[in-house]
Amino acid sequence: MSDKNEVAGVVVVVGAGLMGTGIAHAFAASGFTTRLVDSNGQALDKALHGIHAILDGGVRLGKLALEAAEAAKARLSVHTVLTEGAAGASLLVETVSENLALKKAILAEAAPLLAEGALLATNTSALSVTEIAASVPHSERLIGMHFFNPVHKMKLVELVLGIATDEATVARSRSWVEAIGKTSILVNESPGLTTSRMSAMLGNEAMWMLQEGTASAEDIDTALRMGFNHPMGPLELGDLTGWDTRLSVLRYLHSTLGEKFRPCPLIIKMVAAGRHGRKTGHGVYQYDAAGQRVAGSGLKASNL
Ligand code: NAD
Repeated sequence: MSDKNEVAGVVVVVGAGLMGTGIAHAFAASGFTTRLVDSNGQALDKALHGIHAILDGGVRLGKLALEAAEAAKARLSVHTVLTEGAAGASLLVETVSENLALKKAILAEAAPLLAEGALLATNTSALSVTEIAASVPHSERLIGMHFFNPVHKMKLVELVLGIATDEATVARSRSWVEAIGKTSILVNESPGLTTSRMSAMLGNEAMWMLQEGTASAEDIDTALRMGFNHPMGPLELGDLTGWDTRLSVLRYLHSTLGEKFRPCPLIIKMVAAGRHGRKTGHGVYQYDAAGQRVAGSGLKASNL
């Protein structure tokens, strides 16, 4: 590639699940010829349907011209064969299931087929970018590109540096992220990066406060929404994410970053009771059959 920060050429997104759908939409809608690859044809059908729904929704809401939506659809193709999707691409975004061996195998197979000097990105949430990069010959051109769900609404992308990632790769990655209308931050490879680490800490601390009877669940959430302008309080967010997921993240951070991430006993108790949050109809709050929060249902200090 001539210009080191050039964002041009074909983009291949490997993995057409929840994240791959959003990522492929972002590139296609931003003017890039985009190939979406998945070994599962049904996942591709679902992803294509999802992308069309986002584009059609944009048209309906008057946010996107009909021609722009149709052009984005035309720029997108789907493939079950990796070698077909990867051939000659300038950027590969790997977003298959969170499995180290799988990610390494896909990158090793695709890397030789990409355009010369192509950038390789992995959307891993928690695996080591350094370890993933060891699977490709030019590990200096591999970076973590951590998107947020739902991709079409969330502006942030965490760029994650592996040990070998070079400065040119960072600069080019920033340009790609900017080209799809998102904002990048740079993070050294570390457990929980910035966002998961901060969110885990906040949710854990909110649970400690609830356990100690510092304030009611409703008031702790209101404090963060009204006092800090957070869109959601940490307890309602934990109910949405799922306390089982929260607990496994906390356990991982506790084992890697130490005592400050020790999971609050109340979280362990809630998970043991099956109160995982919205998905089980009961977390810190209770939810009715329609998924609506039951007023006044916040866990009280007296029933902890
Ligand atoms: P998902 O399960 O929805 O999708 C994964 C896709 O990978 C599936 O469609 C599957 O068929 C496909 N796949 C599996 N093996 C494959 C192969 N050999 N070749 C091609 N495709 C293959 O998962 P997801 O939630 O989209 O997550 C994908 C990645 O993004 C993971 O690394 C995850 O940690 C990361 N991530 C997830 C989120 C989130 O909120 N879900 C946020 C940021 C990052």
